[in-house]
Amino acid sequence: MNVPFLDLKQTYLELAKEVDAAVKSVLKNGWYILGENVESFENEFAEYCGCKYCIGVASGLDALQLLLKAHGIGPGDDVIVPANTYIATALAVSNIGANPVPVEPDPLTCNIDPQRIEEALTVRSKAVMAVHLYGQTADMKRIQTICQKHKLKLFEDASQAHGATHNGIKAGVLGDAAGFSFYPGKNLGAFGDGGAVTTNNANVAEYVRNARNYGSEKKYYNTIKGVNSRLDEIQAAVLRVKLKHLDEWNSRRSDIARIYLESLNFLDGRLIAPVTGEGNSHVWHLFTVQSNLRDKLQAYLGQKSIETLIHYPVPFYSQAAYQELSHLKGNFPISSAVADQTLSLPLGPHLTKERVDYVCETINAFF
Ligand SMILES: *Cc1c(COP(=O)(O)O)cnc(C)c1O
Repeated sequence: MNVPFLDLKQTYLELAKEVDAAVKSVLKNGWYILGENVESFENEFAEYCGCKYCIGVASGLDALQLLLKAHGIGPGDDVIVPANTYIATALAVSNIGANPVPVEPDPLTCNIDPQRIEEALTVRSKAVMAVHLYGQTADMKRIQTICQKHKLKLFEDASQAHGATHNGIKAGVLGDAAGFSFYPGKNLGAFGDGGAVTTNNANVAEYVRNARNYGSEKKYYNTIKGVNSRLDEIQAAVLRVKLKHLDEWNSRRSDIARIYLESLNFLDGRLIAPVTGEGNSHVWHLFTVQSNLRDKLQAYLGQKSIETLIHYPVPFYSQAAYQELSHLKGNFPISSAVADQTLSLPLGPHLTKERVDYVCETINAFF
């Protein structure tokens, strides 16, 4: 049996009729940039998250950069990020001239450890960029308290957590502003690139709305130096269709996660289950196990035609791109252990129970 990590083609095929009609209507309409689909999607996604404003942009990375700039963060400022996040979180900070400061995750949830945030603060600290890694929110209640105490802005990288909640509140409204990615493999994914900023702050919303379109509110009149980072009409039309199915598809992901949790023979050190944090409802963007035999396990599963991935094999501060942080390498034993031991199992809204059972049997047989 062949088990792909994520079968994206199925995400189209299930919705082909609706998606075809939506895309065709954009094509026929003749208005391709910043039109009614972007505006409607922004309203619908804001309503879904429970916030006042949503601004569609070209990618998750751009969403993070624009929300940082909207808060006046730039050169000389420190922004705390999880040491084990995807590199985009750190790049958003460095691309606007600020410094990403890595902080260790909690070894169980793999989300940023609130206590270590406080230990990492300096006079230059301006903000925390919490990341909701793998589909569950960071420990936002504790992080909110720390940010209030130290007068720091709190942002969310919600790229892996569309629909996740923390104490009943959705990702996207747990801080001052949030960035989402709609990269095809995300829980809410377009058929191309896309992203969005969500916030309840009218000034931040206005800044991002202008900045994404060359800094102009009115065509050819530019109030700030902006960029070209627009969500396009075709992707917005696709996202409107897919948003209607997000909760159902998230619940299918939960069903698969439940099978993994019930059927795999977890054993301390050798195979460790993912842990859901207090107050969290998980949307299972990824199902990650940890194992001290990770590389052997991955190779074995590969031989059995089961595709797995590693999120992420090299922490951002150890990447060649971040040579200026290379002296920090030894300071992060937890994120380094996560990089060496974590393995993401196949998971998606179209993975059949038969295939999940096969993955479980194969893993149990390996051990
Ligand atoms: C996907 C992702 C991003 C970047 O999104 P793009 O749309 O690819 O720019 C940022 N942060 C995290 C945690 C992600 O998973």
